[in-house]
Amino acid sequence: KLEILNNKKRKVDSMIYLDNCATTKPYKEVLDTFVEVNNSYFGNAASINKFGKTTNKLLSAARGQVASILQVAEDSIFFTSCATESNNIALLGSVEHKKDFGNRIIVSKIEHPSVLESFRELERRGFILDYLNVDEDGVVDLNHLKTLLTKETILLSVMQVNNVFGAIQPIEEISEILKDYPKVHFHVDGVQGVLKDKIDLSKVDSYAISAHKFHGIKGVGVLYLKSRRTVHNITFGGGQEDGLRSGTVNVAAAASLAKALRLSQEKVEDVKIKHKEFKTMIVDGFSEYNHIVSNSPLSEKYIDSIINISLPKIKGEAIVNALNERGIMVSTTSACSSKTFHLNEALFARGLSRENIEGSIRVSFSNETTKEEVETFIEVFIDEYNKKFKEVIESGI
Ligand code: PLP
Repeated sequence: KLEILNNKKRKVDSMIYLDNCATTKPYKEVLDTFVEVNNSYFGNAASINKFGKTTNKLLSAARGQVASILQVAEDSIFFTSCATESNNIALLGSVEHKKDFGNRIIVSKIEHPSVLESFRELERRGFILDYLNVDEDGVVDLNHLKTLLTKETILLSVMQVNNVFGAIQPIEEISEILKDYPKVHFHVDGVQGVLKDKIDLSKVDSYAISAHKFHGIKGVGVLYLKSRRTVHNITFGGGQEDGLRSGTVNVAAAASLAKALRLSQEKVEDVKIKHKEFKTMIVDGFSEYNHIVSNSPLSEKYIDSIINISLPKIKGEAIVNALNERGIMVSTTSACSSKTFHLNEALFARGLSRENIEGSIRVSFSNETTKEEVETFIEVFIDEYNKKFKEVIESGI
């Protein structure tokens, strides 16, 4: 048995988990599907024997379900191991396809590292990298985009919803601008936006999602490609997933991703209403405290499931730890290593002050978050603020 399982019975149920942008708890039905498929359909989907054929049928059914929820063709859906992999395949693979037509690539400054670092790798390989600015709300600047686009541009990546403060990006408007630049491959990282924010995938060239962000399991994602031929393979092997992602397909994971997506889709309208109520409760609850700053105000520009809050002059880590001790889990947005303090790039791109960025935390809801949990969070946060942080902030230390 694993050491950690023997250690102590974890009191998972008594904790309040508000770090759902990092990952969500898999639905029981999703886990049941995973186990059931591993038990009863363990054949290799590429084998032509009976077991292989039934497993392959199941894989097709999972693909079909994902395609129908995302409203795209079945052959445009490819299973991967996570969104990081989907992003890498789309970005590196599309440039490989387009490299004879130009050498400029554009990425927004607020992307997840799986996108930003892929662009930096492309820069190391000789492409000219342009960073797309965002405004103070964290929404990409379309006028800046127009000035960056050239006849040499072959790739643009803008996420659907930002993972640090929840700003919704103008994907449709960008696709309009790109009509004058047909050479550009437009990739969208949909990890934090899928289902929560409407998107018409016919307007983008590729789109990435990860199951564990919507109550699925870790280790499985999807890449949507409007046209398969626009992305070259970047890894090589047995040719699974039309050669785009060689390696024996994890059919149990694919089936469980489809299940998680369907269950989440069924709840999506109710969940949206609930999240708006929760975000309003937090904004109202903190409104009389001048030192508590919200970096994701209540507005159409932001998704309601994420709220980024700062206590300028306090380190985000100290807030996370204080809440942790009271059984509430949220996350920091800037990583602190022993020597340097890395300011969160996405918050920095908005032009927020250093103090604000250092003191920020992210609170994020799941489909299952309850009103009681949010009430407790507000109460505990205010209590910790009064006890530990208010005096420090006011003394200016
Ligand atoms: N893109 C965004 C916006 C994310 O928030 C994340 C995960 O936090 C990823 C990509 C990467 O997802 P995964 O770790 O499942 O590959």
